[in-house]
Amino acid sequence: FAGKDPKNLISEKMNDIKVDKIKSVPSVIKEDTSVYDAIVTLFLTDVGTLFITDKDGNLAGLVSRKDLLKTAIGNADIHKMPIGIVMTRMPNIITVTPEESAYDAARKIVDHQIDALPVVKAVTENDQEKYKIVGKVTKTTITKLFVELGKT
Ligand code: ADP
Repeated sequence: FAGKDPKNLISEKMNDIKVDKIKSVPSVIKEDTSVYDAIVTLFLTDVGTLFITDKDGNLAGLVSRKDLLKTAIGNADIHKMPIGIVMTRMPNIITVTPEESAYDAARKIVDHQIDALPVVKAVTENDQEKYKIVGKVTKTTITKLFVELGKT
């Protein structure tokens, strides 16, 4: 590392490393899953964000911990209410592709003040652009990378 500014080293790494290398396994449920079952899935899979697909398996939306809390303290029957009604939905979902860098992903998380991004691949179905979920990048992913880069 002689003569190299450590700050440049970190930025070099963060821009070199692709999302594909750091992404982890997402917890995915279908749009017609009940809010109750979504909450159970959140606990069982030990995640903070659930990604939601439509009947064709394409990205439809997502729910965060607080989205679920808000619904649970409301008056709705969470056994009957489908998650599709309360989720944040497309096209308002911030996504990242496997080819983007770790820095791009971290930047999106910070700029949009969110915890998780679905990693997606675009597909064309019936002349429409749809997205398949191939992973996730979360604040934990970025923290782990930071720790990895900081190892001496
Ligand atoms: P929490 O709501 O538990 O603090 P977040 O900060 O991740 O968790 O979510 C804040 C809000 O932003 C929620 O309403 C959630 O649905 C939404 N959100 C989370 N991730 C994304 C994303 N990748 N794209 C768009 N909206 C998102």
